[in-house]
Amino acid sequence: MRLRRIIRTAAVIIFLTFVLLLNAPPLKSRAPTGVNVILVTVDSLRADHMGCYGYHKMTTPNIDAIAEKGALFRRAYSQSAWTFPGLMSILTSLQPPVHQVDQRGRTLDPNIKTIFDCFREAGYAVPNICFLLTLPEFSTIRVGPVEEKYFHGGDGEEIFHWLDENRESKFFLWYHYREVHLPYKPKEGSRSMYFPILPADSELSPGIKAVLSETAVAPVGTVKFEEADMPIIKGLYDAEVREFDSFFARLYARLQKYGLLKKTLIVVTADHGEELMDHGFVGHASTMHSATLYDEVMRIPLIMSWSDYLPPCEIREQIQQVDIMPTILEIVGIPVPSGVQGRSLAPMIFDTRKRNESSVPVFAETIYGGFQADEEMAKTRLRCVRTDAWKLIETDTPEAKTFQLFDLLTDPKEIRNVFDENTQTSAALRTLLLEWRRENMARKGAIVDAGGTVPRGDSFPACPQMLFPYDGVVLRYQERNGTIRASWVGSPNSSYVIEYDIGQGVHHLSGSFVTFGNERIFGPYSREIWSALAARNPWRIRVSPDTNPRCWSEWVQLEFEHENGRTH
Ligand SMILES: [Zn+2]
Repeated sequence: MRLRRIIRTAAVIIFLTFVLLLNAPPLKSRAPTGVNVILVTVDSLRADHMGCYGYHKMTTPNIDAIAEKGALFRRAYSQSAWTFPGLMSILTSLQPPVHQVDQRGRTLDPNIKTIFDCFREAGYAVPNICFLLTLPEFSTIRVGPVEEKYFHGGDGEEIFHWLDENRESKFFLWYHYREVHLPYKPKEGSRSMYFPILPADSELSPGIKAVLSETAVAPVGTVKFEEADMPIIKGLYDAEVREFDSFFARLYARLQKYGLLKKTLIVVTADHGEELMDHGFVGHASTMHSATLYDEVMRIPLIMSWSDYLPPCEIREQIQQVDIMPTILEIVGIPVPSGVQGRSLAPMIFDTRKRNESSVPVFAETIYGGFQADEEMAKTRLRCVRTDAWKLIETDTPEAKTFQLFDLLTDPKEIRNVFDENTQTSAALRTLLLEWRRENMARKGAIVDAGGTVPRGDSFPACPQMLFPYDGVVLRYQERNGTIRASWVGSPNSSYVIEYDIGQGVHHLSGSFVTFGNERIFGPYSREIWSALAARNPWRIRVSPDTNPRCWSEWVQLEFEHENGRTH
């Protein structure tokens, strides 16, 4: 009897211990408080060209060393195919159709909480030393003014200068490294490590000239890449990756010198990958003036390292950019805001039992042309859903939708489209993609409903900036089919006031009207009306958010071309 009671008591104790262990906070008890965070995003960095991801050349010895001691996510994916939407998904944990910074000229809705807000509210220094934060599209992110005094001594030095002066503070520091992006022009020393002899300029093929071109774009259709270009292109690219690794080594050494390694979580990832002739071309949406969502563009590295506090681990579930913000916040003990679309990966890092469960699907969306998209390109969108075994890509043009389906287990390079042969899988993934779109629409609606246009925080609003028409433009009927699309850097979900000041003398007219969103299309007009508009030249317009007080863009002056080609 007594023995049975002892056994029962022991069983209860074991059970309770087990329950307590399961519910124990995974990290807080072990982690020192007030950990710093350095988030380094690298433009166009492919995971499979890094040593820690199994690349056969030594391109990243310094990153490999921290990856070995920290958490390495073997299958991490971008939410898009170009810089802005990918980075915004990292910084907000929202999918591109929800944060909507997926087209040039669009700013983040000020009601959306970013990772910067979370850290600032937790008492962290959140320095503005990333050049991207000076771009209009990032202007509604709440950080302090640009800390210009750190920008000297060359590109990338600002992060070292900032650390030199602020190492005592508790900080969240974001840095975007851009040099891996086209053009692939590494320094001689690093290039010669990966491709010893570069042909003379006169012997360079059009493909090599394209990747060396300072324009940093190689639109599809303008250049043909040859098989013989591939080793040179990969050599140049690898040399750029090595240069990033050297930059990282300097950063790591700085942290070591200041004794910050034990209290700094380091996160290295990318905005998107890069095609290196995997499907016949080089680049990504912004440089191609087109877009693909194959794995070479979607797959990115994700490495997290924090001295002894993160266990060395390799995680094989597929994960995505929206997961990064909740993971960082949970690791450092800051509450994750409600409404994020990602999940924290901290349980996978700290609890081996939470690893290797089946992956959740990954989604991505991009416009043709990315950063370089004109009105026409932006009408085409690619969307994709990726599971462990399959990938469905939808190309949505104004004319039609087409689909590609790839069997990733037998065709990991995504060469053979098997959409028509696998009707059940195709249908199931189309439904998944549709549900994702519906969910995003609902979330977007919720943000708009919660919002209005009242700015929050100290650095918003930045006054809008006209994208088109630009100052001095002459609007020709023939070129525009009688239509004018005015656009400015602003929110697609806010109201704006357009003010106009037209003509001279007796023809002078001025006024204003309210419009919704950051663009407005006028026309199409007949030739007669175009001429009538030209009779009132010059036109001046400016735009402001519909707030009080107003915050005006600069005036832009434009003219309509008369039917006979005159402007005056
Ligand atoms: Zn990029």
